[in-house]
Amino acid sequence: MTLTSPDLAADAQVRANDRAHVFHSWSAQALIDPLPVAGGEGATFWDYAGNSYLDFSSQLVNLNLGHQHPDLVEAIQRQAGDLATIQPAMANGTRGELARLIAEVAPEGFSKVFFTNGGADANENAVRMARLVTGKRKVLAMYRSYHGNTSTAITLTGDPRRWANEPADASVVHFFGPYAYRSAFHSASEEEETARALEHLEQTIILEGASTIGAIILETVVGTNGVLVPPPGYLPGVRALCDKYGIVYIADEVMVGFGRIGEWFAVDAFDVTPDLITFAKGVNSGYVPLGGVVISDAIASHFDTVTFPGGLTYSGHPLACAPGIATFEVFRRDGILERVRDLGERVVEPRLREMAEKHPSIGEIRGRGLFWAIELVRDRETREPLVPFNAAGPAAAPMAAFAAACKKAGLWPFTHFNRVHVAPPLVISEEDLVRGLDIIDAALSVADEAA
Ligand code: PLP
Repeated sequence: MTLTSPDLAADAQVRANDRAHVFHSWSAQALIDPLPVAGGEGATFWDYAGNSYLDFSSQLVNLNLGHQHPDLVEAIQRQAGDLATIQPAMANGTRGELARLIAEVAPEGFSKVFFTNGGADANENAVRMARLVTGKRKVLAMYRSYHGNTSTAITLTGDPRRWANEPADASVVHFFGPYAYRSAFHSASEEEETARALEHLEQTIILEGASTIGAIILETVVGTNGVLVPPPGYLPGVRALCDKYGIVYIADEVMVGFGRIGEWFAVDAFDVTPDLITFAKGVNSGYVPLGGVVISDAIASHFDTVTFPGGLTYSGHPLACAPGIATFEVFRRDGILERVRDLGERVVEPRLREMAEKHPSIGEIRGRGLFWAIELVRDRETREPLVPFNAAGPAAAPMAAFAAACKKAGLWPFTHFNRVHVAPPLVISEEDLVRGLDIIDAALSVADEAA
């Protein structure tokens, strides 16, 4: 799939306007060269110059149903014809139906949904709810986490993206979560990692003062910081600590919710029920901005007679909710959750294990469903990362070379620090999935040379 013929005039025009007038996020403006994208379909997108790419990053891990899914496009078009917008204080059938569908797949005892425009503001509002319900302001968040780029959300974030915004809201405290491969606790096994990480969290709660802590927020599976799947027992342990100390447990499922690991909500895979679940991305594959908070009945009832002081002009926008409803239809009709679990277990995991045998630069592979990380190292014994933490420019060259090799072979990879993530659209064909893994396999020889 590609443009029928390259359109270099369009390419030049798009580049010129972009360079002259678009101020890009997360970038030094003069140092970037954004790819002009002409179109996409399914797991593939293409530029104006005749190149097409298998999208192994699902854009920003949001494009769960792929580019231009006909059901989602049609739902938006139909909604635009019926009612293009309506403000959030009014009842709307599309919004209500999506909220009903979300509550139906949420854990038992979650009936209400507060809609936002994306993930960061979902987390902002979840924290706001927790603070109002508990009367306690402090929030504990994990190192190696990302919660968004608005004021509170970036403060909650436990990675370098937070640094430029500091000093910030002092009522956020970070703690270490489990990460057996690079254990902060020098654990020798997963069981030990779980026990020590929970002990560390409890000590943090005690020393920070349970009477000051309103919420603990954590990604159910840590996303951009490494696809860190929690070891058995960790999340139930966090739940128990929240219960013991009167703390609201917020599960950030912005990246992992809606199918990425083969579950509607990832908490279902880890035997845990939080108090609030935030979502965005996969709810409608990002076709129109949408996020939200799924609220446990206990928390929602607090606001029965007390005003919740949160709201956005575009909350629950019908043009965003319509493809959300279509997402449910497609997931159910096409067995998307089952497909993700099957492809993860049958195709991705065995292939990555095989690569780990053969490439000396692979330190660890980990993941679930269609959400995997390959962690690259210089030395398997010392586990020295292939590029230093937070490396940029020349220090990050081996990762840049790996990404360039992938792109040259027609794959758009997701790389972060010393990791390659495998996160294609959930609708990718098995053939394309294998082809993409072949490209990664071949490109890893570049990493092996640098190791
Ligand atoms: N939380 C997690 C886990 C995320 O991965 C992201 C975005 O990548 C966010 C929150 C922020 O979402 P948004 O960019 O829609 O504000």
